[in-house]
Amino acid sequence: MTLTGHHFIAGREAAPHGHLFHAFNPSTSAQLEPAYGDATHAEADEALRAAEAAFDALRLATPETRADLLDAIADEITALGDALLERAHAECGLPMARLTGERGRAIGQCKLFASLIREGSWADARVDHAIPDRQPLPKPDVRRVMMPLGPVVVFGASNFPFAIGVIGTDTVCALAAGCPVVVKGHPAHPGTCEMLGRAVLNALHKVGLPAGCFSLLHGKGNDIGTTLVKHPITQAVGFTGSLRGGRALMDVAAARPHPIPVYAEMGSVNPVFVLPGALKERASKIAEAYIGSVTMGVGQFCTNPAIVLGLKSDGLQQFISNAAAMASKVAPQTMLHRGICEAYQAGTAVWRTINGLELAGQSETAPAETASQAACRIFTTTIDVLEGNSELNREVFGPCSIITECPGLDDMLRYANSLEGQLTATIHGTVDDLREFAPLVRALEKKVGRIIFNGFPTGIEVCPSMHHGGPYPAASHSFFTSIGTASIYRFVRPVCYQGFPEEALPELLQDANPRGAMRIVDGELKR
Ligand code: NAP
Repeated sequence: MTLTGHHFIAGREAAPHGHLFHAFNPSTSAQLEPAYGDATHAEADEALRAAEAAFDALRLATPETRADLLDAIADEITALGDALLERAHAECGLPMARLTGERGRAIGQCKLFASLIREGSWADARVDHAIPDRQPLPKPDVRRVMMPLGPVVVFGASNFPFAIGVIGTDTVCALAAGCPVVVKGHPAHPGTCEMLGRAVLNALHKVGLPAGCFSLLHGKGNDIGTTLVKHPITQAVGFTGSLRGGRALMDVAAARPHPIPVYAEMGSVNPVFVLPGALKERASKIAEAYIGSVTMGVGQFCTNPAIVLGLKSDGLQQFISNAAAMASKVAPQTMLHRGICEAYQAGTAVWRTINGLELAGQSETAPAETASQAACRIFTTTIDVLEGNSELNREVFGPCSIITECPGLDDMLRYANSLEGQLTATIHGTVDDLREFAPLVRALEKKVGRIIFNGFPTGIEVCPSMHHGGPYPAASHSFFTSIGTASIYRFVRPVCYQGFPEEALPELLQDANPRGAMRIVDGELKR
């Protein structure tokens, strides 16, 4: 596919003009063609007006048509073949094997949401039949079901160009729900965005839905994103990225005359508690898995295990020396873009100035700065230093982590109780540990979205039970997940029908329940 640098505005291609920017290959610093431009306010307005005009066609289409759209997107991504992987590799520096796996996940997500909406139970239909002779007052017929919110603006993540990008969960679950989407492409991989955007437009054409259901606007700098969030037609926002960016967009949305939800997933430090029984049983095995998790994807995951806590003991010393030795063997790897690499170098440089924080081990091969490479860096400290330096509890994006020695179990519990909102927390232990440290689990339940036992938080399963979110600042709304089928609830709201005749009700609320979806009927869950 020849890349054009065009914005896709409801099927119309708009050439870039005004301020232009390019992608750069982070491994070589080579500029990649073509040039992309910042979309204008007029282009944002055109995309959102087209989205509003297409809303009825999309939301009133049968679930089969919307599911066919998602299947067609999956086919179009497959049809892009190796060219998609090669462009993403050039723009993001991610290895081909990782990109191949991520493409599989993105295709799988399309198919998962297609089957979700064909089946229908997701819409949480509830039916309460009338009881006309109820005393002292008759009971009306009341029914409710989920309905799409309207046009959604999506900001793709830099670290998942496919699975959380132009055709990532946000876009796919919004289209599944019946919401048109305007994507603000990530400026670090605009060519990948363009290829994926064209795939969505081809799929819309195939199933006969209006091109206004999807637009892709490019831009570098905050202006176009802010404009899209402020626009009165926008009804919700999906965002994955930095706390600074997410919070700025939350504030913009809250200041609108009609505020809208911004579903922002902004990362966390994902503490790992290694309990005494686990250290005694398998310190070196846990250290090996820990270094694997810290360095997976060059540490560029919001679920990176950035802080480990263990009880001062021989087992912890063994864990530290194993982790440090393994870190030294990790070859430096190219990060997503130069800016992220510079932020990593600056973040770990600040850590090195903190009294009581020691560098225990790092990649023995020096990183090639011209290739935006990051070395793995493992630090050690004590709980008082961790608690006394709040900046250590903020994400430094990259392959680094801090192992913290705690004199007593009370220290771990106090730390858990003081945590800000987290996406995840992990406990390594034995079943006896878990019984003895039950208060730690009770504390973590109040702070995190997902608690992992004897595993690591990186590698998120896309499934109905997944919750990828957490209390602020990990995410903007702790109730919602950005990964897994429940992510669809970010872009819908319940609509309740009272006293309606059967034939005028949405299909999922009709007594016949032709789709056979699970519903709550007169208080009972059934098909
Ligand atoms: P980012 O800087 O937050 O940018 C994400 C997207 O939001 C980009 O399209 C960006 O475009 C836009 N944006 C950011 N701030 C904005 C603002 N104030 N107003 C309007 N639009 C805004 O994230 P990134 O580029 O992916 O990576 C930077 C840092 O984010 C990393 O170092 C890491 O700390 C964090 N991160 C977290 C996750 C996660 O999973 N939670 C994922 C990736 C990165 P413009 O810059 O063009 O405005």
